[in-house]
Order: sequence, then C-alpha cells, then structure tokens
Amino acid sequence: MICLGIESTAHTFGIGIIDSNGFKVLANEKATFTTNEGGIRPIKAAEHHILFFDMILQKALESAKIKLEDVDLIAFSQGPGLGQCLRIGAVAARTLALGLKKPIIGVNHCIAHVESGKITSGFKDPVTLYVSGANTQILALASGRYRVFGETLDIGIGNFLDSFGRVLGIGFPAGPKIEELASKGEKYLELPYTIKGMDFSFSGILTKVEQLVKSKKYSTEDLCYSVQETVFAMLTEATERAIAHIDKEEVVITGGVASNQKLCGMLKTMCSERNVKFAAVPRPLATDNGAMIAMTGILMHKAGLKNKISETNINPYQRTDQVDVVWCK
Ligand code: AMP
Ligand code: MG
Repeated sequence: MICLGIESTAHTFGIGIIDSNGFKVLANEKATFTTNEGGIRPIKAAEHHILFFDMILQKALESAKIKLEDVDLIAFSQGPGLGQCLRIGAVAARTLALGLKKPIIGVNHCIAHVESGKITSGFKDPVTLYVSGANTQILALASGRYRVFGETLDIGIGNFLDSFGRVLGIGFPAGPKIEELASKGEKYLELPYTIKGMDFSFSGILTKVEQLVKSKKYSTEDLCYSVQETVFAMLTEATERAIAHIDKEEVVITGGVASNQKLCGMLKTMCSERNVKFAAVPRPLATDNGAMIAMTGILMHKAGLKNKISETNINPYQRTDQVDVVWCK
C-alpha cells in the first residue's frame, strides 16, 4: 500500500510518500516558512502553504516515481497546531481523497513524531523525548495511550530557542544557528535550572538570558553555550528520571530539536551509563515532515481506522494523551 501524508501544522508544508512494505520512504518533500528576523505569523505561514502545495506535490510524486493514481491512502496532520495552517493541509487532503476516491485518515502530529522514531529505531516500547517547536514531552505507552510522564510547564524547547534567537536577532528557526554559535562558546554563565520532578519550564530562563544579552557584557557564543548546557541538562535529567520510574530500556529522541548533536550526545551518555538503548530519529524525519504522517496513517489504517469526510475537521488543541493508540498491541 502507498500512503501520501500531508503535514501543515505550523511552519512546514510537507508531503511524504511511504510504501507500507517496510515503511520505505519513497518521497519526503517540504517547504518551510522562514524569516530573517522575527517569528512566525500564522496567516503568513498559511499563505506559504497554499503557494507551495502544488510544487511540493509534484516534487514528491517525481521523487517517488509514482502517479497520483498509485496512492492508496491519504493521511494528514489533523492537530495540534495553528488553525490557519492546519486548515490548508486538511483541505488539500480532502480534495485529494475525494478526487481520487481513496480513504482519508487524520493523524495526531505529535504521535506521528513518536511513531516515526519507533519505526526508524526499531524499538518496541521506548520512552520518547519529543522536542519540537511548540511541544516538549516525555512520552511512553501505558494502557493504550501515549501518556505524558513529563512536559514543559510553559513554552516548548524549540520555541524557547527561537525566542532566544529573536533576542539575538538571528531569525527563524534559531535552533541550528544557536547550536553552531554554542560550539564556539567556552565560558558557562549560570542560568536558572527549572525542573520539577519530570516537568520543566523555560520562560524564566528566557527572561534571564534576555537580561544578559541586553547587558552587552557577554559574548553571543558564551550565551548560546550556557543556554544549551542548561536546558539540555534539564531534559536529560527528566528523561533519566522517567526511565528509572517506569522501568523502560529504550530511549528515542524525536522532533526538530532532535537534530541537535549536543542534546543527542548528552542523552547517549546518560543512556549508556544506565545500560539503556538510545536512538535519534534521522534528520529528514526530525523537523516537521509528511513522511511521518504517512507512516502513522499506515499504522492506523492497518488497525482498521478510517475517517468519513465529516470527521476530518482540524483539531488544533488535541493532546497526545487523548488519542487511543489502538494500533499498538
Ligand atoms: P518541529 O516543530 O518539530 O518542526 O521543530 C522545529 C524546531 O526545531 C524549531 O524550533 C527549530 O529551532 C528547532 N531546531 C531545528 N534544528 C535544531 C538544532 N540543530 N538544534 C536545536 N534546535 C533545532
Ligand atoms: Mg512537530
């Protein structure tokens, strides 16, 4: 079976094409809304997605070397996300499904990050550290749902890094640029370390680091280095506590911030000290993409789930732990 997955929750419009036989990625094309300064305005991102839909679809079909008629299933990101952006993906998915007379399935975006991590690592029952723009959660399967064992109490780690980037004036997305600047930093500046059990928060750190930037006393490299050391240590500590409490033997990191080598290195060290397996989702599947939506669509379809068109409304506030994961036995 061939599944075409559409991603449009926020900054990225992506189309992935997956062959259910071995979850082979036939195509994973995307266009990402970026800025040189300032953050994302939802209306601008939505306009971007409309503009790129046709081009990304054609590119994906070309990469996969298939025709639209060869697609057997349409999957799309139903939520959570920015309403204006989600609506573009949902309309595109409905149009394709109705035009091609193929089944349609709405996918929870966060769960797609988790499932792509599981599929690519081959792990069966991991603790997942899901680190993206808007979300930061420590998840594991328990009684039929991905339960949230720890999460941010305010903003997501990616949004935190992007907000810090805005203060530095380095544009969106700031994560990769902060990683590069941090590699040249040497001096650790003390920042608040805000972790409560397995939950954490970033807004106080943002306020403090804004003050440090404005004081003009410290180099950008040292600030980036100190920010990364602090927030990634918090995430590693919370993940370690989760493994210990719920007794799991595998850790997967997924989401856009999973591309960060410093964070992956810290988790890898912690896991090897605990004799726990560790894997990071491959880079093309880390930031938002259509391939992970198609992968999850296949899992759901194989489990007998399908949506009527009337059930394909967007779900901007759906939480990870509201979805029955009936495809995991
Ligand atoms: P997502 O929402 O999953 O697409 O992830 C996007 C987020 O990942 C943005 O906030 C980026 O700043 C962040 N990001 C991407 N690459 C890196 C990196 N190398 N280090 C840290 N953050 C990153
Ligand atoms: Mg995401």
